[in-house]
Parts: sequence; structure tokens; C-alpha cells
Amino acid sequence: MAKVSVGLRGWRFEEAEIFDEDGEFKPLEEIPDDASERLVRLLALVEEPCDACYLVHGEAEISNCRPAEIVYGEPGAEVLLCGVHEPDFLYWFREEGGSELKGTAELQDAFHEWFADGNRAPDEYGGLEHVETAPEELPEPPSPQEIQERLDAQREEHRIDIKALAESGSAEE
Ligand SMILES: [Zn+2]
Repeated sequence: MAKVSVGLRGWRFEEAEIFDEDGEFKPLEEIPDDASERLVRLLALVEEPCDACYLVHGEAEISNCRPAEIVYGEPGAEVLLCGVHEPDFLYWFREEGGSELKGTAELQDAFHEWFADGNRAPDEYGGLEHVETAPEELPEPPSPQEIQERLDAQREEHRIDIKALAESGSAEE
């Protein structure tokens, strides 16, 4: 099965888990929990700055931070990176023991501390190629707004279902 990214690179989804046969987003209740949790979490992340930029510039100079392009880690304990800082994370992950924290919430703090201490990938580490699936063959990823609207619509449908149930229930009395 093909793997795809949505919104930010890094987290990968099984294409068949999140898209239907027509290439449309599936309703969230048909998406496995892990994938839907990440999709919803992405809503909050796509507007965020790169963590490493933020550690360099801080809140006072947040306008100097590049937007996040890549997300690693677990939902709720992510590391967000711009293209410039991704090699620092990859170096830490592969060469500085970061991979031992794979799948844990400690990964985020551990990378932040390593970076805040002034550690960086060696210069030559920047030339790594990313593995990308062919984007032109994929459905257009929805915008965060589209995902939000879909969530709202589903909540609304749910409410109508409950209401109908409640009404039919009282009619039988
Ligand atoms: Zn950055």
C-alpha cells in the first residue's frame, strides 16, 4: 500500500486508510484511531513554527522562525522542523541516540535539549535526500479548514442522529 503525507512531511498514512476509492477523504469514523488522531493533530500543527527556529529566536522574534514543514514524534509530543533544521534532527536521531526514544514522548524534550545546548549536524549532513512519494499521483491534501469543516459536519450529523433517535423513542411511548 502506498504511504502518503498530509499537510506536513514526516507522519505517513496508509493511503487506503484515509482515502476512499475515488481519492476523497474518508469520514473520520472510518479512519483507524491512530491515523485519525494524527490527522486531527495536524490541524493544530500546520500553522506552527519550526521548533529549532523557535529555540534560536524565541517568542520575541517569532516572525524570524520558518514555518514547520516536517513533523516527527508522537501526537502531543512532536518535533516540528523546517527544511533547514531537518538535518539536525536526522543527525541527532541517527547518530546521537535519538532513535532509542522512538515512539516515546521523551523524544521531543531530548531533541530540544540537545539542540538548545548548541549541538548541530555537521555541515555535510545537509545533503541527505528525502524519500517522497510522487505527489502528482496523490489526491489533493485537504486544507486544515477542510478537515475542520468535515469534523464539524460529522458532529452535526451525529447530533441529528441522536435527536432522531430521541424523537422516535418518545413517539413510541
Ligand atoms: Zn527551523
